[in-house]
Amino acid sequence: MAKYYQPEIETASREEIIAIQNEKIRKQVKHVYENVAYYRDLMDKQGVKPEDIQTIDDIKKLPFLTKSDLRDAYPYGLLGTDLKNCVRIQSTSGTTGKRVVAFYTQQDIELWEECCARAIVAVGGNEDDVCQVCYGYGLFTGGPGLNGGSHKVGCLTLPMSSGNTDRQIQFMMDLGATILCCTPSYAAYIGESLKEKGYKPEDNKLKAGIFGAEPWTEEMRHNIEESLGIKAYDIYGLTETSGPGVSFECEEQTGMHINEDHFYAEIIDPETGEVLPEGEVGELVFTSLDKEAFPLLRYRTRDLCVLSRKPCSCGRTHVKMSKPMGRSDDMLIIRGVNVFPSQIETVLLNEGFTPNYQIIVDRVNNTDTIDINIELAPEKYSDRIKDIQAMEKGLEAAMRTMLGIGPKVHLVAPKTIVRSEGKAVRVIDNRKLH
Ligand code: ADP
Ligand code: ZN
Repeated sequence: MAKYYQPEIETASREEIIAIQNEKIRKQVKHVYENVAYYRDLMDKQGVKPEDIQTIDDIKKLPFLTKSDLRDAYPYGLLGTDLKNCVRIQSTSGTTGKRVVAFYTQQDIELWEECCARAIVAVGGNEDDVCQVCYGYGLFTGGPGLNGGSHKVGCLTLPMSSGNTDRQIQFMMDLGATILCCTPSYAAYIGESLKEKGYKPEDNKLKAGIFGAEPWTEEMRHNIEESLGIKAYDIYGLTETSGPGVSFECEEQTGMHINEDHFYAEIIDPETGEVLPEGEVGELVFTSLDKEAFPLLRYRTRDLCVLSRKPCSCGRTHVKMSKPMGRSDDMLIIRGVNVFPSQIETVLLNEGFTPNYQIIVDRVNNTDTIDINIELAPEKYSDRIKDIQAMEKGLEAAMRTMLGIGPKVHLVAPKTIVRSEGKAVRVIDNRKLH
């Protein structure tokens, strides 16, 4: 059975990858300088010309692009080709503000779908598989990306889109889906719904899941793997660089291989913009090496993670990124302490609670407050106030140890926190309203 979708490139030597990157970056910088006035101005301001970029290391000389540049340049300001060469747009989910629109030529779509095909083959996918795609279809990149990848691999593709969980389960069972693609929060919900309907993990034919588009913890991975009886793999991407498939996990499940022949990754200090050495946590910056329609150079993702070049047992040679611990703008600053929702998720799954939670931040009398509503699993639910209070106290203590500040925990009845069919909304920050 094929282990790689494109073996030559996925297992290419370091020298071969660098040679490809050197050649592509020269061409790409010229393409952008000639076609994207917005970026040409940034380069001119920085005093850098296309000839200054001869190798991939020279990339450090180029200016960064940020989400606010994308918003300023909306909709056509960063277009790298004539509109008549474009065949599609996709758009961000708007998780952190105004949506950004990205453009694709037919060639851009081919390359993007190949990246998704690599991810599917990496989880053991082949033409015998039935691939159920329940990421949203439409403007969101999740559905179209995995759909295209699944076609390229030759899986029977179920283009379910998100939502209508009863129908998801019916098709999963009737058609014997073997690979499930959706957000991790929706996978957890499907797992919970299967259990409620009386199915055991071994009743479905699923073997693997490809879950991404939002941060999720290792504890969440275990929860999903148990409830669905599968191996759960991470996939990462963002609309600005194409969509899912920028990087994906292999059988080792210790980070995601970045498709380095298409995307050059750097980690920078978010404060100073300085490039950090391998192994340090910082903000991930991507350069599209060969996108035609929306060729972003040094785009700051705001996602925080670590890169590793440690050899991988799967045989792939591309650099790996750790699970993003969240976006720099997901980070909550509560009474001066940095708190990530993922830390809270880790504690509550470790303590045996459900992954259904919501964090509410507010400011009362000039002091930040943090409340966490956590849903009880039916088997933990109790009528005795004393039992509930004891559980709340225990969780508060565990949270205080992890976070360094003490949140107020509220255990709520089963089925009272809204389930997510796409990206989960974990934080409600009411301070922004004041
Ligand atoms: P939006 O920024 O509006 O959510 P996108 O739908 O393009 O737009 O989402 C891209 C973002 O989703 C990434 O920048 C990252 O923050 C998050 N993301 C995608 N995949 C993952 C993943 N596997 N783990 C954590 N975060 C992810
Ligand atoms: Zn690997």
